[in-house]
Amino acid sequence: MIAPEYRDNVFKENKKLASKGGSVVGEYLNYRSDGKPCWIQWAVQCICDSNGDVRELQAVGRDLTERKQIEENLRNSEENFRQLAERLPSAIYILQNDVFVYLNQACKKYLGKGIDRIAGKPIAPNKLIPKDFLDLVRKNNIAQLKEKDVPPFESIISDQEGNKVNVLHSTIILNYHHQPAILGKITDITEQKKLESAIRESEKRFRSMIENSTEGISLLNSRGETIYVTPSIQKLTGYESEYLTGKSALNNIHPEDRDMIKKLLSGLMKNEGSMVSATFRSIKKDGTIWWTEGTAVNRLHDPDISAIITNYRDITARKQVEDRLWVTQFGIDHADIAIFQLDDTGKIYFANEQACNSLGYTRDEMYNLHVSDFNVSLDSEKWKKHHWNKIAKKHLSIETTHRRKDGSTFPVEVTINVIEYEDKKLTITFAKDISERKKAEKALREQFHEYQKLNKQYEEKNAELLELLLNVQTINEELEEAKVKAEESDKLKTAFLANMSHEIRTPMNGILGFTELLKSPEISGTDQSKYLDIIQQSGERMLKIINDLVDISKIEAGQVDMNLAPISVNKIFDSLYEFFLPEAEKINLILTLFKESLDDNCIIEADEVKLTQVISNLIKNALKYTHKGEIQIGYKIIKDEIIIHVKDTGIGISKEQQEKIFERFVQGDPAPGSAVEGSGLGLAISKAYIELMKGKIWFESEYGNGSVFYISLPFNKGSVRPMNKEANKSKPEELTVPQYTILIAEDDNTSYYFLEEVLKKQNFRLIRVTNGKKAVELITTMPDIRMVLMDVKMPEMNGLEATKLIKAMKPDTPVIIQTAYASGNDKKQAVDAGCDDFIVKPINREMLLQIIKKHIKKSNAEVNRN
Ligand code: ADP
Repeated sequence: MIAPEYRDNVFKENKKLASKGGSVVGEYLNYRSDGKPCWIQWAVQCICDSNGDVRELQAVGRDLTERKQIEENLRNSEENFRQLAERLPSAIYILQNDVFVYLNQACKKYLGKGIDRIAGKPIAPNKLIPKDFLDLVRKNNIAQLKEKDVPPFESIISDQEGNKVNVLHSTIILNYHHQPAILGKITDITEQKKLESAIRESEKRFRSMIENSTEGISLLNSRGETIYVTPSIQKLTGYESEYLTGKSALNNIHPEDRDMIKKLLSGLMKNEGSMVSATFRSIKKDGTIWWTEGTAVNRLHDPDISAIITNYRDITARKQVEDRLWVTQFGIDHADIAIFQLDDTGKIYFANEQACNSLGYTRDEMYNLHVSDFNVSLDSEKWKKHHWNKIAKKHLSIETTHRRKDGSTFPVEVTINVIEYEDKKLTITFAKDISERKKAEKALREQFHEYQKLNKQYEEKNAELLELLLNVQTINEELEEAKVKAEESDKLKTAFLANMSHEIRTPMNGILGFTELLKSPEISGTDQSKYLDIIQQSGERMLKIINDLVDISKIEAGQVDMNLAPISVNKIFDSLYEFFLPEAEKINLILTLFKESLDDNCIIEADEVKLTQVISNLIKNALKYTHKGEIQIGYKIIKDEIIIHVKDTGIGISKEQQEKIFERFVQGDPAPGSAVEGSGLGLAISKAYIELMKGKIWFESEYGNGSVFYISLPFNKGSVRPMNKEANKSKPEELTVPQYTILIAEDDNTSYYFLEEVLKKQNFRLIRVTNGKKAVELITTMPDIRMVLMDVKMPEMNGLEATKLIKAMKPDTPVIIQTAYASGNDKKQAVDAGCDDFIVKPINREMLLQIIKKHIKKSNAEVNRN
């Protein structure tokens, strides 16, 4: 029954049993009667007798076939497990009683090749299993440990190359060979860890990104309600995300833009996967309006998200920039200046509307042009040069000409600016049509020329005006001077009047006083002649004053008649010398005469009476102002001038006086102890007379050392006719014309007596009438009246009227008017009346005779001619 291979063993066991007693249990393979093997456990009991001798062996068998079969299966399955475990990539170990009873090949990764040595040996905490776990296992009875006590855990262990490896420990408690053991699995989860970490990182980043994004993201449901918003939405809108959640997305959109967004969203809802974008205004919690740029995508049918995904960003600043940019763009396009941007080759890169309009190209055409296509002064070569030049200068302003598409040209002012933008040099050109300006400039130029002309005219006018002004100034100055002079003259006149009063009263006193004395019957003959002398001197002195006054009045009135005629200088000097010598001797002065020429033909052309008057005046002054010494009179001829001199050794003239003595009414300071006599008019009259004779008068004098007065007159020897002997006689010719009848019309007796006295001595026959009427009557009745001396002021008919009538009847009869005043008007009236001459009262004897003589001669000559 027992399988042959176990029989020996059974026999040996039994024998041993029989010898020792007791029992033995053994499992042996048996064969059934049908030949089938079966395992039976045989319990053999040795039964001994009282002597201890083996009496019998009792064997009890138990069929173990089923169990054995299980064990066999188990063995097979263990083998299978081993085979499987060896192939697993994870490390597998079986730990039992602190000993690795099994380590698969994968454990080599951590333990190296020596795993065979380690297996079966008690383990020290080593690098495969964490100490904590070992401690747990050691402390506890493994059999009682539950799976939950050792849940899977992670640790980091080193592999054979020293790399740290993340591992996952999974353990189960099992019975291994009838004993509790731990089956452990160590899985390398490094990659998984890395992945997890990467996912975590990415998730973190993503969250941070979402949370920190300036853009807001929200999810909307199909009704347009907010189901999620990112925290950034709060920053954008000021609303908490909780507040927004569940509310319509349209709530915070500006009312004016709400409809537009509503439409967009409803369109979006209809199309899965579609996307819309819009720019609109939103309102923040604080009411501020902000420009929003939003995009929405329909993901309602996407199971992962099932929502409309929207995102928003605040573009207020950008919008402002865009708006400004738009305004700028608008401005650029509508600027009335052409703006071009050229590329580096001179091609148009940008041109504004004005640029296109001014040149007549469309914008597209413009963009195909080169600057030289419309700038007449440029070709592409020139442009290059020009381009670099302007790049160097950065700014350039020139005037040039642009050509339109139709070929016409117009002037432009071009300003080129080179700007640097992002390391590039851009050329922006502004071209301004300056046709109008050019026209205006031309017009201006023409106007300028016109103005220049006008200016010139104005300048000339100005010069004239200036001249006029200067004249006015001169006149003003003269007026001022005249005013000063007038004031001065006023003062002088006042002084003069005082002086005149004295000058007239003094001789008047003499005349009246001594006339009164003459009336006395007991006056002696000597006294009588003395008184008469005084009366005569006084009369002469008065006459001199009156003559001076009359002369100066005539000069002032411009009514001086100059009777220029050839006169003998020697003759004048001879008679003057003769005349003044007695007077000089009387006051112990030597009077000498110096004549350069003894020739009687030393003739000058002058008014004899006036020249004699002037020289007499100078001599009289010399006599007046010289108290001792000599007076020399005479003349010299220097070239074509005759220089007359009157030199004295008198008191001289002070510097102060010298400037004024030719002025009217000026009198010098009287010499100490001497009385002033004279009108102060003598030199003024002399100067005027000499100047009227085209001569000059001046003097040299030193105060206290005498004076020399000079007169220069033109002297032209050849041109002056020699005087005939007759005319040259030294004494006035006596008029010996017997019975030459003169009619005297004079109502004043004294005046008549004087005339009678003078003229009777000259052998004239005189007829007197006392008014004009009678004079006229006599003229008609008495044909032998040869001449009329006519007074002006007379009763019945005045002298002027009478003269007119007489001259009308007898034009050849000379009528000489006697006038008291030699004013211009008197003279004019006399001339108008037709008189032949006039004589001023008081009548000077010499003068009277001279005039009468002149007219007799004249009528004689006429008679002879006839
Ligand atoms: P008058 O009638 O007062 O002499 P004049 O005009 O003849 O007036 O002279 C003006 C002044 O000139 C005089 O008052 C005198 O002071 C000065 N004067 C003229 N001649 C002489 C001279 N020969 N010597 C000194 N003073 C003279």
